[in-house]
Amino acid sequence: MRGFEDIDTVGVVGAGTMGSGIAQVAATAGYDVVMRDIEPPLIEDGFDRIEDSLSKFVEKEQLTGAEADAVVDRVTGTTDLADLAECDYVIEAAVENMDVKQDIFADLDDTVDDDVVLATNTSTLSITTIASATDRPELVVGLHFMNPAPLMEGLELVVGEKTADDVVDCSHALAEDFGKTTWEADDKPGFVVNRVLMPWINEGIRAYDEGVATKDDMDEGLKLGTNVPMGPLELADHIGLDVCLDASETLHEELGDRYKPPYLLKRKVDAGDLGRKTGKGFYEYD
Ligand code: NAD
Repeated sequence: MRGFEDIDTVGVVGAGTMGSGIAQVAATAGYDVVMRDIEPPLIEDGFDRIEDSLSKFVEKEQLTGAEADAVVDRVTGTTDLADLAECDYVIEAAVENMDVKQDIFADLDDTVDDDVVLATNTSTLSITTIASATDRPELVVGLHFMNPAPLMEGLELVVGEKTADDVVDCSHALAEDFGKTTWEADDKPGFVVNRVLMPWINEGIRAYDEGVATKDDMDEGLKLGTNVPMGPLELADHIGLDVCLDASETLHEELGDRYKPPYLLKRKVDAGDLGRKTGKGFYEYD
């Protein structure tokens, strides 16, 4: 297996909210990054998000302008998966769909060297099932970044049925080098964070839909009442309502009715109001 000391170039699959954030984290830690998405405009959007986020670090004087430019220079965008061939560790952050992830992992398995670890940023899907699409299930691990990846310190490390111990050790070391603090979760639906978070968000959406409070009072009440930085509706917009729905559907399928996605969440996703990333979810954004 390619160990932590051998990692110079990190591959990132997906340049969306999480993929671009993960690329930024790895490049900020000094790694060369190859970031892949399926269409050039999606790569451009990914770079825009990286530059926008880095400019805030510069404003806060946590990075110099030259350092921020160097971070961007370390990231190469591509639509061709073959460009990940030289990567020493790959992190997949494409859409939360098992078929898509299995296709990506089968392609990665054929593309990158046999000793390279393939990690997935899945929120809820089984690492073991994703790994079964490859001939290297012992080299597949869950590396679940929190959103926004450049700001959130926590990183959930998910151990699949066949994940080798040295892959877990290498992933802990890489996460630490990214400046993150990890905890381990077994490969059970939703792991630690989303198993508990999604019912909280969904109950907030249901309670709002049933008229318990206005959306502002729902969010304010939970912020002030439980000492969290965002209420459920605000957080759902931040995560992406489509991502919340995908996660809830997986949890519902695996764990039963207490995870049933709320009607209002489905309706908003059908309407294309996906939260911050589309400018409208429960709230409106510029
Ligand atoms: P997103 O919709 O912002 O981005 C997904 C990206 O994947 C899109 O740009 C899409 O074009 C791309 N994609 C689709 N198929 C692809 C393929 N075959 N190859 C390369 N790219 C492909 O979604 P996101 O919020 O970034 O979520 C990505 C993953 O991270 C999901 O598994 C999600 O569950 C997980 N996650 C999301 C959050 C969150 O708060 N949004 C937090 C932690 C984990």
